[in-house]
Amino acid sequence: MRLSKWFPAVNRVSYYSRMNFNQAVELIAKSNRIVGFTGAGISTESGIPDFRSPNGIWANNRIIEYQEFISSRAGRVESWRQKVAMWPEMRDAQPNAGHLAFAELERQGKMRAMITQNIDGLHQRAGSTNVIELHGTTVEAVCLTCGDRISMDEAVRRVEAGDPAPECDHCGGLLKPATVSFGQAMPAREMDLAVKACYDCDVFLAVGSSLVVYPAASLPELAKRNGAALIIINLTPTPMDGIADLIINDEIGKTLPQLIGMTIY
Ligand SMILES: [Zn+2]
Repeated sequence: MRLSKWFPAVNRVSYYSRMNFNQAVELIAKSNRIVGFTGAGISTESGIPDFRSPNGIWANNRIIEYQEFISSRAGRVESWRQKVAMWPEMRDAQPNAGHLAFAELERQGKMRAMITQNIDGLHQRAGSTNVIELHGTTVEAVCLTCGDRISMDEAVRRVEAGDPAPECDHCGGLLKPATVSFGQAMPAREMDLAVKACYDCDVFLAVGSSLVVYPAASLPELAKRNGAALIIINLTPTPMDGIADLIINDEIGKTLPQLIGMTIY
C-alpha cells in the first residue's frame, strides 16, 4: 500500500507560494489601502485570554445573552459581576508589537481601515485612530435607552460601590458594557464601514483571527474577490487558507513588524 495515498505529500511551499515573504514585504511597502483585520490572537500576546478558547472566559462563566440582560435584573447583576471580575486584567493590558505595527502603518498613511473583532481597545491605545470595532468595546458602558456612554472605570466603580446593575444618570435606562453580546445584532454602521473598506483595499492583513465567526469571517473573502492580496498571520490554520496569498503560522508580535519592514521596541 502506498502511504502517499493516505498521506499525500502536500508541498506547502508551492501551495502557499502565490507570494513569498519578501514579495509580501515589497507589496506592503508599495500599498496605501491596507485593511487590517484582527482577532483574539493579537491580544493573547498582550495577556488577554481568548474568550472562546477551552479555558477562556466563556468556558468559565455563564453566558448572559442579550435578551436575558434586558429582561432580568439577576442576569444584569451576574453580567456586571463578571465584567468587574475581568476588568483589571483588561484595563492593565498593554498593546504589543503587533498593535504598534498597525498604528505605524496608519501613521504612514497606508491604512484604509483597521477592523477588529476584539473589544479591548488595544489598537487605540497603540495609536490607531480609525478603528472599526465589530464587537463593540469593553472600555465603555452604554445606556440602552438614550445611548449615553460612560467609561468602564466609572461603571465598575459604581458596581463596586454597591450598585450591582447600574442605570443611566440621564434617563434611568439600563447601562450595559458596550460590547456586542450573544444574541445581540452586529452593529450595522460598523459592518457597513467594514464591507466598504473591503471593496476598496489592496492588501487584506488578517491577523490573529481563526476566521470562523461570521459575518466577520466573510470579509477576507470579499476583499480577495475585489482584487486585494490576502495575507493571514495566525498560529493555526484557518478556513480561508485556501484563498490566501501568504500564510504565516507564527507569533504576530514577531512577524508583523518584519512584514511591514520596521523594528518595534
Ligand atoms: Zn440613558
